Amino acid sequence: MGRLRFGPAGKPTNFKGGYEEVPAILKQMGLDALEYEAVRGVRVTKEQAEAIGRAARENDVVLSMHAPYFINLASPEQDTVTKSIERLRESALASEAMGAYAVVFHPGYIKGNSSREEALQRVIDALGQLLDSLDLKVAWLAPETTGKVSQVGDIDETIRICQSHERLRPAVDWAHLHARAEGKAILSVDEVVNIIERIEKELGSWAVRPLHTHFSRIEYGKGGEREHHTLAEKDYGPEWEIVCRAYVETGIDAVVISESPILEQDSLVMKSTCQKYL
Ligand SMILES: [Zn+2]
Repeated sequence: MGRLRFGPAGKPTNFKGGYEEVPAILKQMGLDALEYEAVRGVRVTKEQAEAIGRAARENDVVLSMHAPYFINLASPEQDTVTKSIERLRESALASEAMGAYAVVFHPGYIKGNSSREEALQRVIDALGQLLDSLDLKVAWLAPETTGKVSQVGDIDETIRICQSHERLRPAVDWAHLHARAEGKAILSVDEVVNIIERIEKELGSWAVRPLHTHFSRIEYGKGGEREHHTLAEKDYGPEWEIVCRAYVETGIDAVVISESPILEQDSLVMKSTCQKYL
C-alpha cells in the first residue's frame, strides 16, 4: 500500500500569517503536504525558505513549490525564454533552500511555433540548458500537465519532457487533463491507472514514489480550462473517487495538492474519501 499525502496549494484559506507557521497548522488538521505558491514571482529569502523547510520537517509536511505563471520556455522570442529560465532558476534555488522536492511549472505556449513538436523541442532545449548549469540535490523540476490545448503539456508531452533530463519529474494535474479534453478524459479508474502505469514504465518507478499531483473540479470551454471549482460543485468533473481508486489500485505513493477554491478544506474531503478505499 502506497502513502498518500494531502495538502493545499498555498496557505490555508483566510490564514494571514507567514508560511513558516503553516506546517504546524496542517499537521493539526491531519494534512501532510504543502505547495508554496510563487506564482507571481519568487519573493522568499534564503533565510525564510530555510525556516519554512525546518517547520515542514518538524511537522512531517512534504514541500513543493509552484513556479511563476510567467514562464514560456516554448517562445520563439529569445528574450522571453531567457527571462523564463531565470524565473525557473530562482524557483529551483528557493526550493533547494526550502527542501521542496518538486518545482511545478507550466512549460509554455504553442503560439509562434510552426508545430507542437517545435514548441516541445524549445522547452526541452531550454530545460537542458538550465539544468546543466544547476546542481540540484533536493528539487526536481516538474512540468505540469496543463489545462489548455494552446499550452505544451498533454500527458505525452509531459512524459517526453521528463525523459529529456534526469532532474525532471512529472506533475499531473488531473483537472487540467479533463479540461483540455473538454471533459472527455479522466472518466474511469482504468484510464487513470493506464496513465499512472505509462508514467511508471516510461520514466521509472521513482516517478511514482511519489507521483506529484494536483486535483480540483474544473470548468472548461472550447480549448480547455476556465476555472477551478470545489469538490461539492458536482456539475463539474473530474471525480476524485476515480483518481483515488486508481492510486489505491496501483499502490503508488502520491502527493495530492488541492487547487480547489477552499484549498485545505477540500484536502480533508479528498483524504477522507480515499480512506474508504484504503
Ligand atoms: Zn499549475
